[in-house]
Amino acid sequence: MSILLDGKAVAALHERELSEHVAALKARNGGQTPILATILVGDDPSSATYVSMKGSACRRVGMDSIVIKLSASATTDDVLSAINRLNANQAVHGILLQHPVPAHVDERLCFDRISISKDVDGVTSHGFGLMALGEPAFGSATPAGIMRLLAHYKIDVSGKRAVVVGRSPILGKPMALMLSNANATVTLCHSKTSNLEAEIRRAQLIVGAVGKPNFIRSDWISDGAIVIDAGYHTGGIGDIHPDGLMGRCAAVTPVPGGVGPMTISTLIAQTLGAAERVWSTIQ
Ligand code: NAP
Repeated sequence: MSILLDGKAVAALHERELSEHVAALKARNGGQTPILATILVGDDPSSATYVSMKGSACRRVGMDSIVIKLSASATTDDVLSAINRLNANQAVHGILLQHPVPAHVDERLCFDRISISKDVDGVTSHGFGLMALGEPAFGSATPAGIMRLLAHYKIDVSGKRAVVVGRSPILGKPMALMLSNANATVTLCHSKTSNLEAEIRRAQLIVGAVGKPNFIRSDWISDGAIVIDAGYHTGGIGDIHPDGLMGRCAAVTPVPGGVGPMTISTLIAQTLGAAERVWSTIQ
């Protein structure tokens, strides 16, 4: 028997809890609403969809969102100016710069301009460093969402051999650190890993974060493993080939409906957390 790690259902459950939490917080704070600001640079349709989904999720739980749209020709300075304004705006509690930005924009410089108190997507070097050290910080939303999904199903990763495939700063790398902080023994694989199949065969927990459809073959995965597919491609295809995994693995995320909904619900929860921190220091 395999557990289906149903991120859609878990995120819906968390949303109901978040709605109650937001209502109580607003009642205590004279109706003030937590606000997530999103910056969208350029006209990539997938990024526009993700931004719109994040705004809808905010509204579903009673929070607000604002979107700053910048053209594809916006410069690094234009993005930095938008971030400066949002940092200074006390009505804004969380800032998300939608990744990826156009290649001519210095994404790292822009991420690092976000105020640490509003870094609800864990993208700043400071926030990443705190998370890596196990200090309080908002983690990158996708790996933090995966940790919340595992926690919901009471899956303890302590002592498990975990393999993360992909080492991007927003996904694979923070995922490896979060699993290590939870006492898994982690191998972080990437495009120069010499024998990926052998690494995956040894894994008791696999996270696919490669960005290539069906790249990780299901027959590389051992019976009884926990399988987390963070990939998402057109047509609802993940990074891990799903054939035969349900039934012989301990737990499997569906694609879609696994990791994606958890990312959004984590972002909302972290924005609420940022608002709570601000309001608790004012009172
Ligand atoms: P990315 O920045 O393109 O990083 C891909 C990683 O995969 C890199 O570290 C790369 O290694 C590694 N890689 C590439 N080819 C490989 C190979 N042949 N063998 C082993 N590793 C290889 O991608 P990303 O932004 O992390 O996204 C990864 C996936 O997650 C995508 O499908 C994306 O759509 C999905 N995603 C989902 C969510 C969500 O909310 N569900 C959020 C973010 C991303 P090198 O470092 O050596 O180049």
